[in-house]
This record gives sequence, C-alpha cells and structure tokens, in this order.
Amino acid sequence: MSQNSETTQQSFTYHDFIATIDGFAERYAQDINEQYYFSFPLQPILEAEKNLLNSGIKSIAYFSMEFGIAPSIYNSFRLNRPISEQNQFFTHEVFSNYWLCDYLFKIQIDKMLDIPIYGGGLGVLAGDVMKSVADQGRSVTGVGILWNKGYFKQKFWYKHGQIPDELTWDPRSYPGLVPLNKIVTIATKEGPLHLRLWKYYVYSYDKTSACPIILLDSNCSENSLTLRRLTDQLYRSDEVWWKIFQRVILGIGGMKALEIQGYNIHCYHLNEGHAALALVEKYVHLKDKEKWAQWASGFMYTCHTPVAAGHDRFSLEDMERILPEEYTQACQLFGRERPSSSQINLTLMCLNNCLHVNGVSQRHGEITRLQFPEFSSKIQSITNGIHIHTWISENCARLFDRYPDTFGDWRKFPENLAKITQLRTHQQFRREFFEAHQGNKENLINILGRWKLRKEVLTLGWARRIAGYKRPALIFHNTQQILRIAREIGPLQIILSGKAHPNDNIGAAHIDDILDHIDQLNGHRNLVRVLILENYDTYFGKLLTNSVDVWLNNPLPPFEASGTSGMKAILNGVLQLTTLDGWVAEVFDHDIGWIFGYRYGGTEISDEKQLRLDEDAQALYQVLREVAGLYYKTYRGKEIHVSSPWIDKMINCVCESAFFNTHRMVHEYNKKMWANAIA
Ligand SMILES: *Cc1c(COP(=O)(O)O)cnc(C)c1O
Repeated sequence: MSQNSETTQQSFTYHDFIATIDGFAERYAQDINEQYYFSFPLQPILEAEKNLLNSGIKSIAYFSMEFGIAPSIYNSFRLNRPISEQNQFFTHEVFSNYWLCDYLFKIQIDKMLDIPIYGGGLGVLAGDVMKSVADQGRSVTGVGILWNKGYFKQKFWYKHGQIPDELTWDPRSYPGLVPLNKIVTIATKEGPLHLRLWKYYVYSYDKTSACPIILLDSNCSENSLTLRRLTDQLYRSDEVWWKIFQRVILGIGGMKALEIQGYNIHCYHLNEGHAALALVEKYVHLKDKEKWAQWASGFMYTCHTPVAAGHDRFSLEDMERILPEEYTQACQLFGRERPSSSQINLTLMCLNNCLHVNGVSQRHGEITRLQFPEFSSKIQSITNGIHIHTWISENCARLFDRYPDTFGDWRKFPENLAKITQLRTHQQFRREFFEAHQGNKENLINILGRWKLRKEVLTLGWARRIAGYKRPALIFHNTQQILRIAREIGPLQIILSGKAHPNDNIGAAHIDDILDHIDQLNGHRNLVRVLILENYDTYFGKLLTNSVDVWLNNPLPPFEASGTSGMKAILNGVLQLTTLDGWVAEVFDHDIGWIFGYRYGGTEISDEKQLRLDEDAQALYQVLREVAGLYYKTYRGKEIHVSSPWIDKMINCVCESAFFNTHRMVHEYNKKMWANAIA
C-alpha cells in the first residue's frame, strides 16, 4: 500500500541482494553468486524483490502459520558445502504385522529433510499456493515463522504408540534459506521481543520466476532465554501464553516485517485466525481511525476448518498479560464474542473486518455460512487444490508427454488434463496408463522392500494427520470382516501413516488402536499385510498418493473442510474410496471410485465426537468387496484387462485434476478476492 500514488520504479541488484543477508561472506558466498542461488538462477529473485518494492504493482502478502514447501520431492536446492547431517533424515521405522521385519530393519531413504516448518495439510496447501503464484509470475510474498524445532519427530514404541521426540535441524545450513540482517521488534508486557527475519525463495516449475517467504524467528541473542523459545515448536499448545505469543509473532511481527522490507502490499491474505492480529497491528498504527473501513478492505481471510479446535479464542485477561493496552483495546473492538464478553475470538476478528472471506470447498463455504450467519453475505467458497508439478509421478508425467496431441503443454495449462477423456477408447493408452501406475507401485514396493509387498495385490493407502474426525482406525474396526473379504475375494495390503498432535491424547490413542489391530492380524500376513510408517511427511505423502491402487479417505462428514491428499492421488490415477465430504462432494457423481458411509444432511452440524464407527465400518466393508472384486477382475499379476471399468475410473480421476489444482485455485483467489482489495 503506497502512501503516494506515484509509481516507484526501483531497481534491485545482486549487490543490493547480498547486502541484505546476514553473514553472506562467511557463510553463503559459496552458494550465491551473480548467476546462481543455491544452483537455481538468481535473476528471478532480483525481479521478485523489485516488484515487491514497486508501488505500481499490486502485491499480495500471504500469511500462514506453516508452509510445507516439500524440497525433498520438488525443486530441491543444492548446497556447495556438505549438507549438515541434521538436515538429512532418512531412517523411518515401520510397524507391521510382519513384526520380525520391523525388528530387524528400518526404511533408509536418501533425502533432504523437508524444511520443517509445517505440520500437515494447511502448510502443504500454503506451500502449493506459493509454488503456483510463482508459476503464474505473480508478485506475492509469504509470511510465516521459522520453527527452530519444527513440529515434532514421531517415534513409535512397541505397545506404546506414538512418543513425540524433539526435532533438531540447522537453519544456517539449509539449502535455499538465508538469514537477513534486519530485526523487527514488538513491544510486549514481557519487554521488547526481537524477531530475526529469514527468507526462503519458492521457484516456478520452469525456474523463470520466484516468490519469497519471509520467516520470523525469535531465537536471537537479544531476547531472554524464554522468548528465544517462542518460535521453537509449531502449534505448541501446553499453555495459552505460548499460543498467544505465536499469533502475536505471525500477525504483528509479520506486518512489521513487511514494513521494514519496504514492500508495497496491496492485499493481506490471512490464513486461519492465526494471523488475525495483523489487523490489529494495522489499526493501531493508523493515524486517522475513521478511515479504518477503507484500510480493512485490503484484508482477506480464509477459514480452513469447521472443527471447533481450529478456531482460536483467548480470554482478554490472557491477552493483557502479553499485549500493551492500545492493542488489547483494538482486540476488544474487533474480536469480542459478545458486547460484554471477555473472550477474544480471532475468527470473529477476521470475519468482522476482512473484505472477503472464503471456505475451502463448496460444502465448507456452506457450513461456514451456517456457523456464522451474520456474515453469510461475505463468505464465498473457493475449493482447495494441489500443485500439479509437485505431486505428479514421473511415470504419469512421461505418459502425458507421449500424447502431446491430447495433453498439449499440460505443465503450463493443467486444465488440459481434462482432455484425457479423449483417450478413453484408446486401447494402447489404457494399457500404458495402467502400466505407468504399476511402475509407481513397484517403486513403492522396492522402497519398502524388506516387507515383501506384492505387485499383484490390491493395495490401499491412508495417510494424513491423525485427528478424531478423520477416523484413522475405521478400516480396522472389525478385523474379522477384512480377513473374510481377503479370503473370499483376494488378499489386501494396507499402508498407513500419520502424526497426532503431541498434546492430543485422543489422536495418540488412535495410533495405539491401529497398532493393536495390526497385532491381531499377525498370523494372517499373507492375506492382509498392514504397514504403518513412522514420521509422515511430504516425501511419504507423495510416495503413497502416487503408488497405491486405492486412496482411502474416511472423515466423518461434514468435518473435512476440503482434504487434499485425495487430489494428489487422482492426479496419478489412484482411485478414491471415500466418504462424501470436502472436495469429494463436488464430484460425487463423476465416478472416481467409490463413496460410502454417513451422509451429511446439509442443515445442521452434528457432534464431531459422535464418530459413527459401527455403521460406517460396515458400509466400508461392503463397498470394499466391490473394490476388490473389480480389482482382481482387472489384474491378477499377468494380463491386464484393458477394457475394465477400473481403468475408466482412473481416467475420470485424472480428468478431475484439471480442476483440483492450485493453478485454478490461485486464479480464483485472484479474481474473487485479491483483485477486489481497495486499500
Ligand atoms: C497432502 C498432505 C496432507 C493433507 O492431507 P489431507 O488429506 O488434507 O488430510 C497432510 N500432510 C502431508 C505430509 C501431506 O502431504
């Protein structure tokens, strides 16, 4: 937002750039020069910085508590120094019903640790959005936090389930990440809180443009030991004090960081209530408070969940322990639950002020309007997506490239993927598509080599954050029934992975539950082989969504706002076995797999604790018979039955990827939100 209307056409040179980096000569001179930035072209960075400084360009700041950039699977930077051992992370334990194997082996993967500043779907989505804005050459900066200890490291202990462990990594030798020599300071009741700024650049798929993410870090020597630990752990929730401080850093610190960078921001996009205090920061510094409504129309808000725990509320008293009076007054003005209430609600703060608000699928938009009827006129639906280039398997990309008359430049125009239906009757293509999928599956089987999975066995995958409403143990609700299906129709392989929040006892209990069931299946590993992989991350996210035959998604409707892992799967022709919720509700009749279980009636929101496990497990087993039946008619290890409806479903899946991607999603955000910012 420029104070003067004149366009400033500043230049930004290599020397300007390296002058912003703390310790450039000692630490980064080997990796950054006039041509290259950690082996990627430098020019796009200079261009991005110049655009963000230019008041004639309508730049956007995208705030998120987490960013899942996934360099282990896409656009990995190179380091000319040896990479710190802490930033490589390649052993994972496995729990299976082939326990001798678990005891003897771990999975060894030679990969870079993903920059550990994400916890799950929200972060992966924010990362995918940043990649798509870079692909489209937009002027956008991310605003987030440098989590010095990441989310957490998951350890499985036999019979004890998940034990959270501390994750350590080394930001100073992480490829693509640089510390800036600028610090911003927030005045708090605990004294001044200093925040170091870092930058990480996200490149477009063709490396011709880039967007920065500014990351705030309280771990600097000017702070007291306690304040230094504020940015240790993402979603630390054991005390409300930490939670409020983390939101102060993102919202208030984030606005100050944009200011000190000299960026001209036209539109501030807040993800979740986590970033709501950005509004307060803007308001407090506004001279003419009468003009607030006009300034507020530069703010947009995306709500990502209908689950109660996703909406932050704090008592005024707790906020007063941290923030100075002018801030807590603004909090009361913007976020009080009721006129005399002493609860400050960050969701309401955003709803009250932001120009546009959206839910992350059609249905989630509807639910959000039901939850907040006073604001229903400003709540829209913009369905989430995934970044095609990150989540597509090499085998599928090569296949699409072999049919240029159909797919054209699908990398630049992912909407071309819908043209796959032109090949529906093309026998050669159908065969090659199934073989490409088999290639992915073989890759997975090789990585899990010791566990001796078989290529001809129907393989199901379930991987996501372990939360109650996602019902991770649903498929194990009655192990006798799974065994019966395997005996009567054909064997099964089931692979699971996921982390429960370290303070979430119910989530951890689900993991125990799964481990118990795996135990019960010990004697039957040739009929039903079950593996659960430790430390779910974007590497496993890609591996599993690319390679299993069927992606299992069984949240309790209507609590899955969107869900994105299924979108990664359909892009690779992996069929959906799913309840009707989130994004799936938009394609319920497009034949991308099988839909089962409880259906949301569309009028009221039920109890998220009432999990309906008995009914829905029964529904799942019934449809699983059908899935296995069709699979074993299509393929039993030798000939592929090329005209099988299974392959039609695979084609329908890819066709839907033309829509469920961040390329389309970012165009929608731009049209329905960003372009309307007035400030
Ligand atoms: C895609 C992804 C998610 C999100 O999965 P949902 O289906 O939306 O729950 C979470 N974690 C990782 C590592 C992912 O790659």
